[in-house]
Amino acid sequence: MAGVLVVCEHLSGGFADITFEMLGLASSLQVGEVSAVAFGSMADRSGELGAASTVISAGCSDDFNPEEYAAAAKSAVETTSPDLVLVASTSMGYDIANPLAATLGIPLIAYCTGIEPEEGAFVCTSSLYGGKMGVTSTVPGPAVVMMLSGAHNADDGRIEGSPGVSDLGAVDTPGRVRFKQLIEPDQGDVDITQSGVLVAIGRGIGGKDDIEVAEELADLLDADMACSRPLVDAGWMPKSRQVGKSGMRVKPSLYIALGISGAPEHIEGMKDSATIIAINSDENAPIFDVADYGMAEDLFDVCEELIEELE
Ligand SMILES: Cc1cc2nc3c(=O)[nH]c(=O)nc-3n(C[C@H](O)[C@H](O)[C@H](O)COP(=O)(O)OP(=O)(O)OC[C@H]3O[C@@H](n4cnc5c(N)ncnc54)[C@H](O)[C@@H]3O)c2cc1C
Repeated sequence: MAGVLVVCEHLSGGFADITFEMLGLASSLQVGEVSAVAFGSMADRSGELGAASTVISAGCSDDFNPEEYAAAAKSAVETTSPDLVLVASTSMGYDIANPLAATLGIPLIAYCTGIEPEEGAFVCTSSLYGGKMGVTSTVPGPAVVMMLSGAHNADDGRIEGSPGVSDLGAVDTPGRVRFKQLIEPDQGDVDITQSGVLVAIGRGIGGKDDIEVAEELADLLDADMACSRPLVDAGWMPKSRQVGKSGMRVKPSLYIALGISGAPEHIEGMKDSATIIAINSDENAPIFDVADYGMAEDLFDVCEELIEELE
């Protein structure tokens, strides 16, 4: 049976958004049946995976175990013989996709943001070096493709339904890797990946005490605060607010960048925002290359005027 197999990712008892992004993409490709492999008790929630016609239930532990999950994914591939296997480009995905492609002896395409079927092959676009370089590879199926999160709309794959469930049975592994503990990030903070409007501050804010101005603006706009990495490194903002390569990838409807230069590592995390407004005193700052609207002004002058207007 040809088609697409989606390797579902889950965390803390729910499917991750990237699972639905991959399911939506898999359906849109129209290259045969879409199946999904779900691990442990997540297979009981097959009704959430209605974008797939079959859910393969892998008898694994609920806690991620790279050895076990990679073996289960391999067994699912052998059962479904798909043209394409989609795996999340995440820490967990790396541990599944690499052994999967290596043991099956099939190609692996990493950092993929888009796939087009073309004459029995797939044209995959990958975003490399923090988004500085786009690479197109044509790969014949079967292949493993690792999808970057945020490249597709999760809602396209978030379809309720009643896919058939096929049991893969227990997975046999040498048991060399054991799950010990999930260390959760600090709770109680905002999830900026879900924010509609973000006011993001960079080193141009000057000092910790000056953040107040941006917070005032964010309050008036009903926005959440985000930041570039140096502010987290300085201990001025929590890590959960960092946007970029080593932070969060955000897609708000409005992203206001205050005193952010626009380093590639920052751009990578916010370039998909619907509207970007940049305020930077340096008119040559690279942030203006991705901004829809830009002001080469002192951020404090602009914030002051905006706050006055909004009040
Ligand atoms: C492996 C790796 C991973 C990284 N991950 C990330 C990441 O996830 N996120 C991230 O952000 N960075 C990341 N970085 C760091 C990144 O390379 C940059 O150093 C960082 O993004 C710069 O932050 P910034 O724009 O706030 O500071 P700067 O580059 O120092 O820019 C400050 C800007 O503020 C402007 N400015 C100064 N005063 C004012 C004023 N009064 N009004 C208006 N504008 C003013 C200046 O003109 C300047 O453009 C990473 C780096 C590496 C090597």
